[in-house]
Amino acid sequence: MNDANGSGGSAVVIASRNAKDVMRKFFEKNKKRNDSCIKEIAMKIVNDYHMHTKLSPCSGDQEATIENFVRVLAGKGFKSICITDHYWTLPENIWENRPDFKGPFPETLKQILENKKMVESTEFPMKVLVGAEIETYSPDCIGGTLELKEMLDVVLLPTDHFHLKSVIQQPDDHSFAGWGKHMMKFFIVGAKSRVGHVLAHPFVPMGEHNDKPREVLDTISDAEFFDALSIANEYGNAIEINSGCLIEPIYYESLIRPFTIAKKAGCKFTVGSDTHRLATLDRYDIIAQFCDECGITEDDFSSIMIR
Ligand SMILES: [Zn+2]
Ligand SMILES: [Zn+2]
Repeated sequence: MNDANGSGGSAVVIASRNAKDVMRKFFEKNKKRNDSCIKEIAMKIVNDYHMHTKLSPCSGDQEATIENFVRVLAGKGFKSICITDHYWTLPENIWENRPDFKGPFPETLKQILENKKMVESTEFPMKVLVGAEIETYSPDCIGGTLELKEMLDVVLLPTDHFHLKSVIQQPDDHSFAGWGKHMMKFFIVGAKSRVGHVLAHPFVPMGEHNDKPREVLDTISDAEFFDALSIANEYGNAIEINSGCLIEPIYYESLIRPFTIAKKAGCKFTVGSDTHRLATLDRYDIIAQFCDECGITEDDFSSIMIR
């Protein structure tokens, strides 16, 4: 684990015109927004702590390599990145439609550790860390250990991969409120497990109601979010701001409330693109805009992120 090397408080620049165009396109998709919502973004994102290479079976992009990620992001002035390929531990076939993806994946862990050794012995123009994205299968079964956490730079623990229906426990109650309750239970159990450094893309109800995040999140009160996020903070978890989710306007809008509460609960944050391809390394200004709307500043970023 690497510690912070400074506050990074000086990394305040005005977003480029190009970045404004990215935001304009994003808000065009979002009926509630117009040009007046696009303002100068004071925060510059210089970290990506959620990146999948071709090692992740859902990537499928031979160009998604550590070397290529570094090359592109070094050109954007990035200070550090963390590679977080999926590491699954359950023997079931996690991908219903891809019978060729069979678990468990001991070979994946071997490769992740080889990547870690490789980056530690390579001179890159930025700090490169190697971690993994593990899994919460059910409140009684989390695919990670404290030993694994020690072995890797950053372990991402997602608690809402409910779209992986064959292996992730589904709720008994399929109403919006039932899903909200189920999602919060996973979140709290994951937070208390301490097996991850970061709770990845929280409060995104993937699966059955993935097109209705607002309806699910509206069943969770501010007080419930505050309590759950306070627990996450108390147990030392950082909360991830994930542009792969924020790029969808319905998620962007729905997540403003819980993330504003997360800041009030004293949480620390990491940022990540959740990219699975080389071509999707252009979504960082959405994170900056989202932070601005939630009152999150660079001082709220976790010390895990080397800036
Ligand atoms: Zn994920
Ligand atoms: Zn991911």
